[in-house]
Amino acid sequence: MQARPILIPLLALMATAATPLAISEMTVSELALAQDKGALEPKPLPPLDNPNDPKLAAKELFARKRLPAAMPVRVIGAYNKGCIAGAEKMPITGDTWQVMRLSRNRNFGHPGMVALLKRLSEKAHKDAGWPGILVGDMGQPRGGPALSGHASHQIGLDADIWLTPMPDHLLSREDREEMSATMMVRDDRLDIDPKVWTPGHLAVIRDAALEPSVQRIFVNAAIKKALCREAKGDKSWLSKVRPWYGHDYHFHIRMRCPSGNSGCDGQPDQDDGDGCSDLAYWFKDSVLHPEPPKEPPKPHPGITLAQLPAACKAVLNAPDAKQR
Ligand SMILES: [Zn+2]
Repeated sequence: MQARPILIPLLALMATAATPLAISEMTVSELALAQDKGALEPKPLPPLDNPNDPKLAAKELFARKRLPAAMPVRVIGAYNKGCIAGAEKMPITGDTWQVMRLSRNRNFGHPGMVALLKRLSEKAHKDAGWPGILVGDMGQPRGGPALSGHASHQIGLDADIWLTPMPDHLLSREDREEMSATMMVRDDRLDIDPKVWTPGHLAVIRDAALEPSVQRIFVNAAIKKALCREAKGDKSWLSKVRPWYGHDYHFHIRMRCPSGNSGCDGQPDQDDGDGCSDLAYWFKDSVLHPEPPKEPPKPHPGITLAQLPAACKAVLNAPDAKQR
């Protein structure tokens, strides 16, 4: 299923000094994907007529790999332009987590990410009183660009967590495709919806931000506003929590490059305080309700394999890792 149309004027975005994020950090296609429904029995992708066509979008190649590359673990490239060798699969069910939208086959990541999500799910259980967490998109088995949705999530270091607590029972495969995430933002987009927002949400996001391996967390600006208002004690963890478009049904965790992993093209840490006093940009009418572009944006064909780091070709062509 396609992400909904994107109506955000990019140039206006880039020209605004108050924009706290460079556009390259994450493109606007990183929107409210958590509620896009899946398919219980998705049709397998047809074979490609010419997989060696240099103009072919790399997403067509990476989306056809069902298993990780049988190679040592290594992150290659950047969050929005790269791939991962030796990725690990997040088991679809644990005591304190369940993976959603299984048809997407995007529950793969760096082994450090899998360990992080398991740890966070236990913390959510303890600190928020949730039965556990619902895990949304991580990455494809070999990372790389995906056919729909995210521009990032390419190197196994990004993961989406639903803002809906895990139910206290096992979800069926069908539930995991069909269930909707909870919209946390009020209709006027100026604040969270108090009917659904709870102290548990703050606890789960705070737990994630306190993990040293987590470098950034993306949430809707209304959620950041609520966190700033409700956080008690030391608020320095809030510097990692960044307002961004969408992210009103899920939050997005981004890990820093693993130490000793040369070729991982990461990002600098933020050093601009808790970010609670410069949210005004996000609540301007022009940002909340952008004018649709005069001409619909041309669909981007997507980056080619040659535009990814050279090592991603070896990742793509490597044999399948054994399924565990
Ligand atoms: Zn995400």
